[in-house]
Amino acid sequence: MALYHKRSAFDRDLTFYSPSANCYACYDSGIVSNSDGLVNNYLPDYDKNNKGNRQGGCDLALICHCQAAYSTSSPDGSETKIGYRAGHGINATDSPTGGLQSIGAELDKEKTREIHSIRKENWKKTTEEMNQIRVDIAKGKKVSTPWYIAEVKEQLKTLPDLFSFPSEKKGEEALTSMSKKDA
Ligand SMILES: [Zn+2]
Repeated sequence: MALYHKRSAFDRDLTFYSPSANCYACYDSGIVSNSDGLVNNYLPDYDKNNKGNRQGGCDLALICHCQAAYSTSSPDGSETKIGYRAGHGINATDSPTGGLQSIGAELDKEKTREIHSIRKENWKKTTEEMNQIRVDIAKGKKVSTPWYIAEVKEQLKTLPDLFSFPSEKKGEEALTSMSKKDA
């Protein structure tokens, strides 16, 4: 049977689906997400480099407090997913410089729960707004672009730069000069 992956046109055009998760702090990954910068309300310099620009991976992962951060086991007791934390706290791993190092840091439970609640509420609002916009567009109404879409559109304009790595450029230049020599 052919794999059919298309949503019905009606559904695709009219229904906006927010991500569904039990925990919106980590989207059930066990690691608190900062895609919307919400974490910086609690840790202003989190994932920011020396210049103050956001750079994912600068800092340790923030381990969530929900179920997703713990290991899971099958009914026979064998571990099916290794967690980031156990009863005693965040798991540690061997450090390359000797000893043990924690695999992450954490915000306290209340702050993490707050991130979950704010994000859940934001997604609810976005879903309502997006569905209304789509209904309006379907009715032929003129709709102004919501700011969060306008912002992403603006950011996408610099996309060629985002994926242009200096090392790749050097490679391209080398290839060009090589082909010139061949010609
Ligand atoms: Zn979580």
